[in-house]
Formats: sequence, C-alpha cells, structure tokens
Amino acid sequence: MRAKRSLGQNFLTGTHYPRRIVDSVPLQPGETVVEIGPGHGALTALLLDRGARVVAVEIDSELIPALRQTFGARPNFLLIEADALTMDLGQLIAPAAKARVVANLPYYISTPILQRLIEQRASALDMTLMLQREVVDRITAPPGGKEYGALSVLVQFYCETEKLFDVPPGAFRPSPKVWSSVMRLTVRPQPAAAVRCEATFIELTKALFAQRRKTILNNLRAAQTRLRLEDGARLSDLLARIPLDPQRRAETLSIAELALLADALPDLM
Ligand code: SAM
Repeated sequence: MRAKRSLGQNFLTGTHYPRRIVDSVPLQPGETVVEIGPGHGALTALLLDRGARVVAVEIDSELIPALRQTFGARPNFLLIEADALTMDLGQLIAPAAKARVVANLPYYISTPILQRLIEQRASALDMTLMLQREVVDRITAPPGGKEYGALSVLVQFYCETEKLFDVPPGAFRPSPKVWSSVMRLTVRPQPAAAVRCEATFIELTKALFAQRRKTILNNLRAAQTRLRLEDGARLSDLLARIPLDPQRRAETLSIAELALLADALPDLM
C-alpha cells in the first residue's frame, strides 16, 4: 500500500527503533496507552506485548482493515477510526482515568496534536512522542538560546520535557527529509509556576516572542490592546516594579520571570 504524504505517513521499519521507543515508555502491564496513528502497527504490537491496553486512533480508513486483522483478536486492543485533532482523550480511555500517550506523530500536524494533548492533559500521565528533531529541540530548550521560544515555554509550563534520542531518516519508509527525535513529556501536577490567570500567561508569552529580536518593552507595546493595557499604562514603570529590565529579550526570560510579569498584568479570563 502506498504511503500517503498528505497524512504524514512515514512508517517505522525494522525492530531497533520501535523497540527503543516502546522500551522508553515507563509502562506497567494493564495500563492504558493511547497510540496516535498506529499505521501498520510497528509500535502497537510491542505495546500489546508489554501488556498494555492499547487504544489506537487512526484517521486513514484504508489502514483499518489490516490493523483489525492483525490485532483485532487481542482483548486489550481497541481501534478507533478518528482524527486525533478532535479526539476527546478522557472519553477514549474510559474506564481508565489516565493514560500514557505514545506516537510517531504525523509531522504535518504534530504541533496542533501536541496542543490538543496538552489541553487534555488531565487524562494523561506522560507522552512519549516522536517529532521532527528541530521541533523537539525547540520544545526541550532551556532559556537563553535561539531554540527557546513560545513553544518551549508553553509546553514546559505544563510538562517536564526530556529529549530521549535521535532517529535517522533511514529508519522510515518512505524516508523523511529530516531527522526525528523522541521526547518524553511528563504532565506536571501543577504548572511550573503559580500564576493568577493562565490565559494571561499564555497571551503574554505569545506576545513577547512575537518578534524575537525586539526587546520585551517593544513587544509589550505592540501587544498592548491584546493584553488589555490600552489605558495609558506606563509599561516601563510596570517592568521596573517587578523588576525586569525592559531591554531584555524574551529568549532570556525563565518561566518564573514570565509568571511574575503575567501577574502584573490584568487577568484576561
Ligand atoms: N505508528 C506508525 C509507525 O510508527 O510506523 C505510523 C506513523 S506515521 C508517521 C503517522 C500515522 O498517523 C499514520 O498512520 C497516519 O495515517 C496517522 N495520522 C495522520 N493524521 C492523523 C490524524 N489527524 N489523526 C489520527 N491519525 C493520523
């Protein structure tokens, strides 16, 4: 069967990388795993062998019959033909309350799927995900470098992040153009910093990284209306009170500093 580029189909071949990925999931027998995009089942088979209850979500109806044929008789296997972008994680995993998520994500929608997973993090313990290496490097980056951006902050705010290993293009059929990496996100019981209003923290983060080369003062100015600061607020006074140097760039700010600034702004929710 031909791989569909439009669905981000790059299937893992061989046993080395599927095994390494599944071995890195901190899985106990009987736990529920949600697998997004099982494809031909390279990861699914190993997850079932490890004793997991696997709920697999696949959008491609042409892959469904073979998956049913291969795994349909396994009592711990549930196949859902659906779009991971609209899935309700809590409903999918019932009667389990929490699941581990495992996926070799389709690259064309890896960040929207990640966003959806983070929104539904109440139902997730952790997520072992393969994405493009460049995206994993951005998500797991510490403050101070050029890879650290809004995506790093917003994922790290809700999850501990850990890059596990790289995977070369040759591990897939068809081979993608770029390297991939596997990372683990462990959902934090509480966000990384206490903030009064999470919506304000999120909007502020997006605003400060909107133009990376600009200072935080200039990015704040540009987002004044969005952040409800239009009533002539003196931004330099506001930054001085925290205190934060208005000439700094967002890429130097830790999550704790962003949280302090968010708490000095009006609540958006
Ligand atoms: N897990 C398999 C493997 O590692 O060989 C396949 C991985 S392939 C990169 C991505 C899989 O996600 C494909 O099976 C594709 O059909 C499926 N997929 C793409 N978009 C999807 C979506 N929105 N919801 C669920 N599955 C999707």
